[in-house]
Amino acid sequence: MEKHNPADKIQDLQYFGEFGGVNPSISDSSTYTFLSAKTMFDTFEGNTDGCYLYSRHSSPSNLYLGQALAALENTEAANVTASGMGAITSVLLQLCQSGDEIVSSRTVYGGTYAFMKNFLVKLNIKTHFVDTTDLDKVENAITSKTKVLYCESLSNPLLEVSDIEGLSKIAKRHGLKLVIDNTFSPMVISPSILGADVTVHSLTKFINGSSDTVGGVICGSQDFIDQLRSVNDGAVMLLGPTMDSLRAASIMKNMRTLHIRMKKHSENTMFLAKAFEKDGLKVIYPGLESHPHHELIKKIHNPEYGFGGMMALDAGTLEKANELMELMQTENLGYLAVSLGFYKTLFSAPGTSTSSEIPIEEQKEMGLSEGLIRFSIGLDDNIERTYMKMKDCMKKLGIL
Ligand code: PLP
Repeated sequence: MEKHNPADKIQDLQYFGEFGGVNPSISDSSTYTFLSAKTMFDTFEGNTDGCYLYSRHSSPSNLYLGQALAALENTEAANVTASGMGAITSVLLQLCQSGDEIVSSRTVYGGTYAFMKNFLVKLNIKTHFVDTTDLDKVENAITSKTKVLYCESLSNPLLEVSDIEGLSKIAKRHGLKLVIDNTFSPMVISPSILGADVTVHSLTKFINGSSDTVGGVICGSQDFIDQLRSVNDGAVMLLGPTMDSLRAASIMKNMRTLHIRMKKHSENTMFLAKAFEKDGLKVIYPGLESHPHHELIKKIHNPEYGFGGMMALDAGTLEKANELMELMQTENLGYLAVSLGFYKTLFSAPGTSTSSEIPIEEQKEMGLSEGLIRFSIGLDDNIERTYMKMKDCMKKLGIL
């Protein structure tokens, strides 16, 4: 496998502001002037490099952030969007037409699941939800109408690891596009190196890392990004999930510490996962030997970034999970909140929050138990102290 250090590629990018500033100037305009009408026409047609027409089409700030994200994901190009859902919905609507089918992992983010199950059917696009960790099941679900294979590199919330290389082989054999949502594992996993055609992210999470904005990105070939931006039939151009330039500039500045943050998130999560497993709790973390896909992730991750900052543990019942989360918040160990990738630990019970769109029966079938708490572990300097305090909360509630 090609050696790829995402941080090196981002480090190698160089930008200056128009007055020599060390940060690029922010383009605070929705429209741009031209000296000649001919250049305006050519720009509209996409034939003039370095010219801007209108900020839904493109803006300097969004292009800079797109470049950094393409470097992160080792793709030719990238297009930033106003949210992760803006990225996912645009990709699927670009790749599928009425009558087409998608084979998707059954454990995907609830919004993605709802879009496929309830929204795309209105356009006569059907999704087969399967256990994508079983490659035979994936192959069996493919029909002559299938256009897309879709999954998350680390699934939400069960942290299953996708065999991206295996899925890519299947996709190539059947002429499908493999789309991977890498929101849970930037730096840790590089889907394009493993054979993904398109990588999407919710930038709202680790990449921005400060829980102050929503954002998304689509990373892929130049050809695919150009298709998305076509003024005639491009999903990004015509649906309009455009990121604001001020936000693009602030996300790019936050991205400069992503490699340091990911190492610390992973280090802290590994510490807590090991400690709570040793205490006898059921812990789900791909860095643990007990995780069913531990050997797979060891093979595919970028080892310097560990196994990621997400873990789940089972508090037994929903009542216990809720009590524990409320107590941990009172003790200032984190926040009872959805989302992930913040400096502070965030926790929620996915069955009644981020995965509540998935019917209870299906939740049970996929192993999403009601007492499961999903943790996005923060950047705590002294994780041993955090562990002791969390353990006290668990003892107080009889969970330990
Ligand atoms: N993908 C994953 C794995 C997510 O967890 C989320 C949001 O929680 C999304 C996509 C959607 O992103 P956004 O909320 O930025 O639209």
